[in-house]
Amino acid sequence: MDTTHYDVIVIGGGAAGFFAAIQCKNLDKNLAVGILEKSNHVLAKVKVSGGGRCNVTHHMPEVKQLLTHYPRGQKELHSPFTNFNILHTIEWFESKGVKLKIEPDGRMFPVTNSSQTIIDCLLNEISKYKIPVMFNCDVIEITKAENIFRIVCRDERTFTCSKLIVATGGFNKASSYDFIAKTGVRIVDPVPSLFSFKIQNSPFKDLPGSVIQNALVTIVHTKQSMQGPLLITHEGMSGPAILKLSALAARELYECQYVFSIRINALPMLKQDALRQQLYDIKTTNAQKKVCNTPIDELTSRLWNRYCVLSNISPEDVWQSVSKKDINVLCEKLQNLVVDVNGKSLNKEEFVTCGGVDLKQINLQRMEHKQIPNLFFAGEIMNVDGVTGGFNFQHAWTSGYIAACGAAGGGE
Ligand SMILES: Cc1cc2nc3c(=O)[nH]c(=O)nc-3n(C[C@H](O)[C@H](O)[C@H](O)COP(=O)(O)OP(=O)(O)OC[C@H]3O[C@@H](n4cnc5c(N)ncnc54)[C@H](O)[C@@H]3O)c2cc1C
Repeated sequence: MDTTHYDVIVIGGGAAGFFAAIQCKNLDKNLAVGILEKSNHVLAKVKVSGGGRCNVTHHMPEVKQLLTHYPRGQKELHSPFTNFNILHTIEWFESKGVKLKIEPDGRMFPVTNSSQTIIDCLLNEISKYKIPVMFNCDVIEITKAENIFRIVCRDERTFTCSKLIVATGGFNKASSYDFIAKTGVRIVDPVPSLFSFKIQNSPFKDLPGSVIQNALVTIVHTKQSMQGPLLITHEGMSGPAILKLSALAARELYECQYVFSIRINALPMLKQDALRQQLYDIKTTNAQKKVCNTPIDELTSRLWNRYCVLSNISPEDVWQSVSKKDINVLCEKLQNLVVDVNGKSLNKEEFVTCGGVDLKQINLQRMEHKQIPNLFFAGEIMNVDGVTGGFNFQHAWTSGYIAACGAAGGGE
């Protein structure tokens, strides 16, 4: 079978691979650039991302603040994000006619609310630069001799190139990284990130859809905690506070096989004394009213009722009958409720892998392997993952751009 040669080959037709290939041609139109894609379609994750709307990035121009949203990569991404940040992403898409909008929580989507807009934009660029995409090219082997990479696909097609950008995304099995590990690249074992918690005996089991707007959730016996909306689900708990906590503690939770306990503070903005005083004030002004009918402002009446039940305050109890001890128990439940978690469930909105190419071997100014010159990486194949909200795509754009600068721009 003939071998086809390119100046630059990108393995993987996802967000990072497409962006890297486009940027290579943008930097040097004379380069022969080709994309090898395992399946018979490209940009599959872009299509389903953000519930079909594609959460392209997050409006957070301050790099220091942005970095805090990457449980893996927080320290290392400082220089890459200084080089190509959120404003560059917005500017790039707008220069291609794709207007982005900011939602109240900072997430950015195309104004069309359709991921197809992003796909069309990337496909247009690929076609403008006449970048070929080779489908059904499942790369199984990479070797390097005399500064040329030789790439072999499962169907025995072979390609050679001078510069190689690997952008195959993350895998959930360590063995899926073999094709790259065999070149001498070190891989951090993959474990899932961004998942919901399964709670068999949840005290809120029958209240799916309820939200504690500003919960502080801490993993018991650790300092790992996260604050934000907590969503009660049929299976347990989800929402931003839980998903972000799952990402932060991805490896530790994997190691305990997802059996652990969390402590939930439903009112973290109040010190315990202030909360106690607030409850005494409510008691004084509502002495004849039922406790369950006079919820504290921050909680819905369904949740308030449940907290009352958990504190042994019955639906018939009026404030007058509530003792000091009852108020102490209520405070404790509201701010220190311990719940046992016994599993994880996939987050349907977005899931990513924690693990991948070890960042220690990568020159992050170029996304290039330190010991294997001209081998570059982009996207989720690296040991970088962000929390939900557009951070994973931002890393795909940033690393794709930087890998392209390294591959198309020549030596350091
Ligand atoms: C349901 C869902 C929704 C998401 N929503 C969002 C969101 O709204 N915002 C956000 O920031 N992030 C989101 N993410 C995460 C985001 O999609 C990924 O982080 C991002 O797509 C990673 O891009 P990538 O190019 O590195 O990898 P991928 O998108 O996974 O692309 C890799 C490509 O490489 C190909 N490939 C793999 N192995 C080989 C091989 N051996 N040879 C050749 N080709 C190969 C694959 O077929 C694939 O096409 C979501 C993820 C999921 C699963």
